Amino acid sequence: MTEAKTYVNYIGGEWKPCASGRTEGSVNPADAREVVGYVQLSDAADLNEAAAAAKAAAPAWRKLAAPARGDVLFRIANALERRLDEIAETMTREMGKTLPEAKGETARGVAILRYYAGEGMRKTGDVIPSTDSEALMFTTRAPLGVVGVISPWNFPVAIPIWKIAPALIYGNTVVFKPAQETAVTAAKVVECFHEAGLPAGVLNLVIGRGSAVGQAIIDHPDINGITFTGSEQTGKHVGQGALARGAKYQLEMGGKNPVVVLEDADLDLAVDATISGGLKSTGQKCTATSRVIVQSGVYESFRAKLVDKVKKLRVGNGLDASTWMGPCASQSQLNTVLDYIAKGKEEGAELLCGGGRVTEGELGNGFYVEPTVFDGVTRDMTIAREEIFGPVLALIKVDTVDEAIEAANDSRYGLSASIFTRNIGGMLNFVQNMDAGLVRINAESAGVELQAPFGGMKMSSSHSREQGQAAIEFYTAIKTVFVKA
Ligand code: NAP
Ligand code: MG
Repeated sequence: MTEAKTYVNYIGGEWKPCASGRTEGSVNPADAREVVGYVQLSDAADLNEAAAAAKAAAPAWRKLAAPARGDVLFRIANALERRLDEIAETMTREMGKTLPEAKGETARGVAILRYYAGEGMRKTGDVIPSTDSEALMFTTRAPLGVVGVISPWNFPVAIPIWKIAPALIYGNTVVFKPAQETAVTAAKVVECFHEAGLPAGVLNLVIGRGSAVGQAIIDHPDINGITFTGSEQTGKHVGQGALARGAKYQLEMGGKNPVVVLEDADLDLAVDATISGGLKSTGQKCTATSRVIVQSGVYESFRAKLVDKVKKLRVGNGLDASTWMGPCASQSQLNTVLDYIAKGKEEGAELLCGGGRVTEGELGNGFYVEPTVFDGVTRDMTIAREEIFGPVLALIKVDTVDEAIEAANDSRYGLSASIFTRNIGGMLNFVQNMDAGLVRINAESAGVELQAPFGGMKMSSSHSREQGQAAIEFYTAIKTVFVKA
């Protein structure tokens, strides 16, 4: 193992350590003895410097024609594509997802950059007929100014990019605070922006804890918008802080995503999608399937097929080609998952498989947990209500389609939801009555396409949408212009 490097902040186009000089190791969850890199423990002083750099860079960046900003984004996409394998491997070592998943995510980052690069050539306004026949009335879009990006560790490449790329194309400059858990990966992504020749100060990286750097973003008077993805608790705090000083904000938070399996479903398809949607990335996707709501007529056969397959999944180091599921991303994540499993048993759910930490051989050095399925889960149990963010499936039995949809909606969250059925009536009922921002028919709950709007209902989001053309709504303000010669 080579000596771990130290990753520093990127402010005003310069790489520099934080003012306090404090660092900490970012640990490999597949083997906690390995430090992937040392990262900064910045505080408000560093953030203030970054915000000043972003503010200073804003007028020139905004003045650049949008297609020219698009050219820069195309170059960044190429830089990231050149380093795809290396950055994906860093991601696997830093947060545990398997290498194919990490490569897929990095390729997604490249595609997002290209998508928003193209947005630089597309329309941003409308002409609206005025009551005055001699006037021209139209809308145009203005950037917010400086945008603060606060991101989680579970998609350390895709989420920052789906926030930073639209911010930049619409003429904003950015201060980016990645999750401390995945700051090495974030630093490498920012290196690609630097290598591609992004002007100094347009994107600034400040590595540090949420309580220090994140809080400083919330409080900074020159940060005009904050885009956040993470937990509900932190999200509410970010939103309240932004609201208090009149900054625009956008929050994407938790999920408790259901899959509904009706009696006429293709059961093999439903089983595979439940496993993929619930357990890939060790269940650490905001869109991961968590509640499995199955109609009584097929309940036993679905359960048998599901458990049979889950028992065969290979848990291991994500760099190992034979691994299907990697470790939890951190010790605290592992502890949370094990606590929820204990709670499930305590409240009377029946453990069908998994439920424990994996400690055989080398795996004892990592934060591994078995893929877990609970039977006999009722809607009031903690494991049916709270986001676990781990590889745990809760089976819930229902009799009718209406009961299934009612159960699926019985949650404070509404991010994604899927249903398996061949019946058009059941599908339409679900499309119309399911309160979720993403509704998927005969497809797993996880899985989003970058060109389509993404976001949740209820406590899953601030009711805004990210990605696709929906992103323009957050990163710009509409100006209505009335012109009379
Ligand atoms: P988290 O603890 O809320 O952290 C998210 C980000 O907020 C991190 O960068 C964190 O910094 C920062 N932060 C923490 N405390 C803060 C504070 N007081 N002020 C400002 N920023 C603060 O969430 P997580 O554990 O990283 O991520 C898991 C959660 O994200 C899950 O709930 C999941 O559902 C959600 N998620 C949602 C989506 C979606 O699009 N809906 C997508 C992915 C994940 P540090 O951790 O570095 O200290
Ligand atoms: Mg780590």
